[in-house]
Amino acid sequence: MARYTDEQCRICRREGQKLFLKGSRCYSDKCSISRRNYAPGQHGQKRAKLSEYGTQLREKQKTKSYYGVGEKQFRGYFEMASNKKGITGENLLQILESRLDNVVYRLGFGASRAQARQLVNHGQFAVNGHKVDIPSYLVKAGDVITVRENKKDNGAIKANIEVNSARPVPAWLELNSENLSGKVIRLASREDVDIPVEEHLIVELYSK
Ligand code: SF4
Repeated sequence: MARYTDEQCRICRREGQKLFLKGSRCYSDKCSISRRNYAPGQHGQKRAKLSEYGTQLREKQKTKSYYGVGEKQFRGYFEMASNKKGITGENLLQILESRLDNVVYRLGFGASRAQARQLVNHGQFAVNGHKVDIPSYLVKAGDVITVRENKKDNGAIKANIEVNSARPVPAWLELNSENLSGKVIRLASREDVDIPVEEHLIVELYSK
């Protein structure tokens, strides 16, 4: 497990950016990016200049890591985004933000997206009163996400809400920390997405 969590910091160091993969540590001075902002490995301190393709590829890999999504699923989201009206890159980010594990993380129920995914997998949440244990479930405007009645004494979720109270809930979501629920007021727009990504590079990569 320890090796795996170190692995998460290596991903950030490879991308040269904080991707917030580890929860509260990411907001502290223990963050590896604050301490060693160079790529892992023997030659990590010499960052090679990337080709156009390399830059596009890194942008895609970074976004996949940020949301914890595999290649096949990410490609599927890109197809979905291409088929929607509007700007494909922005559609892609909106779809990624709409994943239930991301919403659970954004509401502060999970310390990280990985932990939020695990909590969803373990059946801790309901959407509009129905249990949903699929992290990739896509929420819609008006959906209400609640900690299920028989899970409300989950100490980890309560502790996360307290710890994460300093992390602002995005404007497209509304948290009710008293009854452990959250509402999707509207879907996320580009301005709501704080990931340091140039999504047009991903569109260019997949459009080759
Ligand atoms: Fe590790 Fe910092 Fe990345 Fe968090 S943001 S996963 S602490 S390097």
